This record gives sequence, C-alpha cells and structure tokens, in this order.
Amino acid sequence: MGTPDGKTPGMVHVYTGNGKGKTTAALGLALRAVGAGKRVGIVFFDKGGERYSERKALDRLKPDVEYWVTGSVRADFSEGGRFRFGNGTEDLAEARRGLDLAGETVADPRFDLVILDEAVTAVRIGLLGLEGILALIEKKRPESELVLTGRGAFPDIIGLADLVSEINDTKHYFREGTPAREGIDY
Ligand code: ATP
Ligand code: MG
Repeated sequence: MGTPDGKTPGMVHVYTGNGKGKTTAALGLALRAVGAGKRVGIVFFDKGGERYSERKALDRLKPDVEYWVTGSVRADFSEGGRFRFGNGTEDLAEARRGLDLAGETVADPRFDLVILDEAVTAVRIGLLGLEGILALIEKKRPESELVLTGRGAFPDIIGLADLVSEINDTKHYFREGTPAREGIDY
C-alpha cells in the first residue's frame, strides 16, 4: 500500500493481547482502506460456520473485499455462547488450508491490505507452526499492508512487525456472565 510519494513500503501490524478489539480493529482498518479505494483480502482462521455478522457486511463490499473462511464449524461456538477453539484432526487440516490460502493472498498483487485474522491464535493453540507464519510475513509484497490478529503474539512475530498493539483486558462483561452477543462479539 504505497503512499502518494510511492516510497513508503507497506507495514506489518500485529493486534494482540487478551482484551476485546483485535478483530474489530482489523475490520475497521479494512473499512478505512476500502474507503481510500484499496482492495482487501482477508483469511479467517479457526472461524468456521456462518455466525460471524461481519461477513454479511463484508459481502456488501465485494469486490473491494474478498475473504476466505477456515476452521471447523464446531470450533465456532460451544454451548452457552462462549468461544472455544479445538485442535483435532479437522481443525489442523483447516488451519493448513488457511495457511495455503494466506500464502496465496499475501502474494496476490490484487490486494493492498491483507488481514490474517486469528493467525496468531492458530499458532498459539498449536494449529500452525510458528515458522509457517514467519514465512508468510517474509513473503509479503513490499507494497501491501499485512495485519495479523490473535492473543499471545510470539517474540519472533513481534520482531518482524512494524506495529504491535496489545489490547489489555481491563474489564470484560463476559466475566460477569454475559454471553457473546450477535452484532457485538460476533
Ligand atoms: P473482537 O472480535 O470483538 O474484536 P477480539 O478479536 O479482540 O474481539 P477474540 O479473542 O477473537 O477477541 O474474541 C472474540 C470475541 O469473543 C470478543 O468479542 C470477545 O469479547 C468475546 N469473548 C472472548 N472470550 C469470551 C468468553 N469466554 N465468553 C464470551 N465472550 C467471549
Ligand atoms: Mg478476534
């Protein structure tokens, strides 16, 4: 994503930490980029199923936004509206599919901004190897901006990033028993 002088290279962002707002920050950036006439490619990791409201909005932004969803459906939500992540055989296969899609997306000159949502989480919970994600970052086109989200970013990922925002969980209603809510948490 070059600047008007055409000299500034695209940056690598990491949105991490235990607080709420990593995925929404990435989606907010997608909205801003589309407003500036840029094309956005998104790969969602470990987020199978249909329940995420943002995808209905992203569908309205085609073809400026294209996205791919990976993750088994049962990793979507467990009973009671709480989030869970699995790492069974199907989850591992889906993560591998996500990594392949991400490799194609970061190399695709159509995209000015690439978002790999929960890619950090996928490494953290053992669905992907750290090397796979580091290789993706190295493979990024110099012109494009790359965003990775997920809790628990590793020092090696932080080391390759140009911007790291750690969102702190100072207070969260889910600890008071409020389940995840449509349009707010998913
Ligand atoms: P968001 O998608 O809202 O920006 P995030 O990407 O920072 O959040 P994730 O760790 O991906 O955070 O969690 C996704 C959503 O699930 C968040 O909205 C968060 O508030 C909510 N959440 C996380 N853990 C729980 C839980 N145990 N119960 C209910 N909601 C939860
Ligand atoms: Mg998230």
